[in-house]
Amino acid sequence: MATTPAVKTTTKPLSKLKEEICDIGRRIYNKGFAAGNDGNISFRLGPNEVLCTPTMVSKGFMKPSDLCIVDMEGNQIAGERKRSSEILLHLTIMKERPDVNSVVHCHPPHATAFAVAREPIPQCVLPEVEVFLGDIPITKYETPGGQKFADTVKPYVKTANVLILANHGTVSFGETVEKAYWWTEILDAYCRILMLSRDLGRVTYLSKQETKELLDLKQKWGYSDPRLDKGMENCDICANDVFRSSWGNTGVTRKAFDAPPPMGADSQPAAAAPAAPAPVPATVDYDSIVKAVTEQVCRELGIGAA
Ligand SMILES: [Zn+2]
Repeated sequence: MATTPAVKTTTKPLSKLKEEICDIGRRIYNKGFAAGNDGNISFRLGPNEVLCTPTMVSKGFMKPSDLCIVDMEGNQIAGERKRSSEILLHLTIMKERPDVNSVVHCHPPHATAFAVAREPIPQCVLPEVEVFLGDIPITKYETPGGQKFADTVKPYVKTANVLILANHGTVSFGETVEKAYWWTEILDAYCRILMLSRDLGRVTYLSKQETKELLDLKQKWGYSDPRLDKGMENCDICANDVFRSSWGNTGVTRKAFDAPPPMGADSQPAAAAPAAPAPVPATVDYDSIVKAVTEQVCRELGIGAA
């Protein structure tokens, strides 16, 4: 096939970029994010050349010579192996985001569980997640592989660096291969912590003030957050306001996790306790309950109630 093109988006030689992709492939495989031959990784070499992983190869055992090069329409222009079947997803993201050079797609189990449950990712729980990720959208489901599937990311791609693909997995993107991968790893660790803490009985949300401090830090470090954008002044910073309007279309509903407490002016750290028993109404007649339970027990034991 065609010869090696010149690298334009980085000064790194092509051989080094191929090694980086193989290295991230090993990391996603070793983390359990890509079973069998799942997952794919890409890097934009120039205006019409993208380096990508091949199909039908375990991402944990790739050699630099296994990688392919495609043009921006997905036509293969170099490499012996067949290019990834999900390359159109990568190219669509790169077309929408000129600042993005690399895309990582895989199936990390904890984030994918949220994709299957169609459960929004609770916000305002972990400081690092607020700073690095923010609100995370779940896309509309489509059969993987085609342009229709790739187009499902379009409504979200400019306002997030990691997306959950309904009933499928995740896709994250950035300037370098490693940065593109980071968001996936942070998201899956977060989803795991959310599930573990909910199983322990409650998820404690940060207060409005604590969250505002994190958003200030985020701004100071140069990370953008749609919650700080114009038009979002009146949004509730912990209520998934950024992508909530898409939930009806994508089938996302809050079921497994309680909504965080409304972030009013005087809000304090609060705990949502899904497992907590319902409060007993003040009008309960304890005597009748005791009598009914006693009678039932006596009936089952075959003795007459007193
Ligand atoms: Zn996939």
